Amino acid sequence: MSRQKVSILDGYLDEPSCLGVPPYIAPHVRYTYGALRDAGLAKEEIDYLTIDQFRDNKEELLNRLKMSQAVVIIAGTTVPGKYLGGKPISLQEIESLTERLQSPEVILSGPIINSGLKINSVDKTASEIPGLTVYQEFTNNNLITELDPVEIVDRWARLGAVVTTKHPNFPYLVCELETFRGCPREENCAFCSEGFKEITYHRSLEGIIGEVAELSSLGNQYFRLGCQTDLLLYQAEEQEGRLCPNPEVIKSLYTGIREVASDLKTLHMDNINPATIADFPDRSAEVLEMIAAYNTAGDIAAFGLESADPQVLEANNIGTTPDKTMQAIEIMNQASGYRDEDGVPKLLPGLNLLHGLKGEREQTMELNLKFLHKIIEKDLLVRRINVRQVNALQGYETGYNYSKQEFKEYKDKINEEINQPMLKRVFPKGTLLKEVIVEKSQGKISFGRQLGTYPILIGVPGQRQVGKVFDVKVIDYGYRSVTGIPWPFNLNQAGLAELEALPGIGKKRAMRIFMADKIKDLDELNRVLDYSYDVEQLRNLVIFN
Ligand code: SF4
Repeated sequence: MSRQKVSILDGYLDEPSCLGVPPYIAPHVRYTYGALRDAGLAKEEIDYLTIDQFRDNKEELLNRLKMSQAVVIIAGTTVPGKYLGGKPISLQEIESLTERLQSPEVILSGPIINSGLKINSVDKTASEIPGLTVYQEFTNNNLITELDPVEIVDRWARLGAVVTTKHPNFPYLVCELETFRGCPREENCAFCSEGFKEITYHRSLEGIIGEVAELSSLGNQYFRLGCQTDLLLYQAEEQEGRLCPNPEVIKSLYTGIREVASDLKTLHMDNINPATIADFPDRSAEVLEMIAAYNTAGDIAAFGLESADPQVLEANNIGTTPDKTMQAIEIMNQASGYRDEDGVPKLLPGLNLLHGLKGEREQTMELNLKFLHKIIEKDLLVRRINVRQVNALQGYETGYNYSKQEFKEYKDKINEEINQPMLKRVFPKGTLLKEVIVEKSQGKISFGRQLGTYPILIGVPGQRQVGKVFDVKVIDYGYRSVTGIPWPFNLNQAGLAELEALPGIGKKRAMRIFMADKIKDLDELNRVLDYSYDVEQLRNLVIFN
């Protein structure tokens, strides 16, 4: 193949151990871009576009893709769900796009290649190391026969960092970082596809830090160490045949990142196996304290308990138990659950519950609810409870079949009895959430989120332009979202919708404030409202300029 233009189509991916749906960019995209640069292609010869850009301008972009010699489609395995920032490419989209492309060679890359799905319309399925196949196309060289996968990935990660500047969200983009590939457990959980990965590795510290240095020098400020199955086991030590967290390595990772990206605004993570914490409590506590010293607040470690039903855990070979998970929640609350100066907890556990698993029975939901209630009773903090249904692998036998109504009632219960009380605990009224980016404006409300791991959805009264960035103080709670008002909130310049949203103000009082001359302090506000309202509630929420 002669040296000509390649297009990378970012179909986004949302995997248990990697996220690439905007505002995230997956490492797969960056490695592929790096491979092409390494193969000698000039920047102008590599095109990059996202599936959403393609959807918005199909005919023109189809022609652009047709001009390429090769099109690399990067896709994941997840069935598209509800997304605010972008929607992953579907199988139908891949098929219809490749059928219309005709002349360029279409290479399918990303986690989709391990899914067992057959997509006949593509010309080639890429190697597990993103970029390796297309590199070989342009150099006739199979690099994996010369170099270790870690060397390849570290090299392409640096070279490919520049593609972030082509992403439509840049610079408001979270760079998902990979620390290692594969699950360290010898036997995998029955429902998990992690075991299908043939190439596994742990990246070098220098490689990850060098990549962050490059990303940072290009203007990236948001990072998540999200691409691994258990961050505590990155370059773990072996102790009596078992892997045990290595505090020195994790410390070097975090301090190294801080050093090369001194102006970073987000440093978050994803995925810790609660059993690792419970099995090595002291070492884990040490590592968690250290992470909290170097991360940015609002960080979450998703715990894959999956089920609090022992029968389900056993049937699926899940390596944790409800007791171990509870112990891990307690340890994390103690080590890293403290708040920063804005009132946001530094690092909290998240909890994944999976349904449709082998061994499930009628009482499984009850056992899960009981476990969640115990967290509330123990006065612990958990930032996010993710309840989902299993995306069954081929040949996987699912368990008890809940009716839609049963599942809805169960989720409603979790929302009312767990999620809302927990949100009130995690984000007490007045908590300051910085740099909220508006993603949608609907009716009288704007919806936004921060750039970070599992960011809370924030509804702010009043219409705002998509993309606007501002700080918000929490004033109220939904089940999985909070309501906030902009900070600083100048009472004398606020619109009616914003005034109405203040706690306990309502329409009539909002109108009085709106019509009043400049109010200079809480005493005057008291007079304007005829002493009908407890103005103390607003002491930390409003200013009077
Ligand atoms: S612990 Fe289980 S679910 Fe998690 S990555 Fe390993 S095999 Fe998959």
